[in-house]
Amino acid sequence: MFTVNAYAATSATEPLAPTTIERRDLGPDDVAIDIKFSGICHSDIHTARSEWGPTTYPIVVGHEIAGVVREVGSAVTKFAVGDRVGVGCMVDSCRECDNCRKGLEQYCLKGNIGTYGGVGRDGEPTQGGYAQAIVVTEDFVLRIPDGIELDAAAPLLCAGITTYSPLRHWNAGPGRRVAVIGMGGLGHMAVKLAHAMGAEVTVLSQSLKKREDGLRLGADHYHATSDEATFTDLAGSFDLIVNTVSAAIDLDAYLGLLAVDGTLVNVGAPEDPLSVRAFSLIPARRSFAGSMIGGIAETQEMLDFCAEHGLGAEIEVIGAEKINEAYERVLASDVRYRFVIDASTF
Ligand SMILES: [Zn+2]
Ligand SMILES: [Zn+2]
Repeated sequence: MFTVNAYAATSATEPLAPTTIERRDLGPDDVAIDIKFSGICHSDIHTARSEWGPTTYPIVVGHEIAGVVREVGSAVTKFAVGDRVGVGCMVDSCRECDNCRKGLEQYCLKGNIGTYGGVGRDGEPTQGGYAQAIVVTEDFVLRIPDGIELDAAAPLLCAGITTYSPLRHWNAGPGRRVAVIGMGGLGHMAVKLAHAMGAEVTVLSQSLKKREDGLRLGADHYHATSDEATFTDLAGSFDLIVNTVSAAIDLDAYLGLLAVDGTLVNVGAPEDPLSVRAFSLIPARRSFAGSMIGGIAETQEMLDFCAEHGLGAEIEVIGAEKINEAYERVLASDVRYRFVIDASTF
């Protein structure tokens, strides 16, 4: 085992603080990664604060990890020391169930092993990316192409794949009209990716505050949802709506914006149950769906797609001492568009 500096939450109410954690000895299939950058995802905050069920403390969160390979196990074939790599939201799965066999490890029937807050194959709790290094089995390590800076790549491992996967699954591309609800960490990536796929992209945001950014990142249209006219003007006009907002929204109003056979897919996860009127779906054969990150092969495809199209996240790099302040700013939607921690400051 080796010891690394990290930042941990010790209770639901205490600020995150510096600590050290142990990383396991390298097994034959393991890759040890020197973390260079670690993104701050809203899920980190929910977990650190026990908002998604009880968290076991202390916990090191972080699942948008970009770094460089420092050591490989004896049987590793895909990676070598010095390679640029990333780790996202999961570090293992059963690899045997129907879903794992189809490359849908995120939907593993036995539950994927989360990068933090899970239990690893060694029986120890998994600890995430707010740390100087991590050890991960090679099959769950991604290659970061040279075309993407490591700091801008980190958020792709969660925010990027969370939006890429539903855009691909529901065929965002030329001739397809895609709307994105929310212009935050997930939303800004959805805009960039849908635009790069060739779709006609509309942002639906509470206000027009981020309109210029939205258009610069690739949106063709930008509408305020605080304006009632948006819902009448755009009725029946989208093939796909990606909802990145975790707050409750008036689903019936948004479903009314879908064309025949259109789908509204939720990637944001509100705490309370959602309600949908059947007649928001029935008259236009609409679907209401959900989607969670992406499989490992698809995550690699997303990274390669981003490199090919020159895409990365819009980021603000901070030192570890600013994590708690950054959390408050995330909650206030005061970040354009993702905080990334410089891991040399842990
Ligand atoms: Zn995340
Ligand atoms: Zn499985």
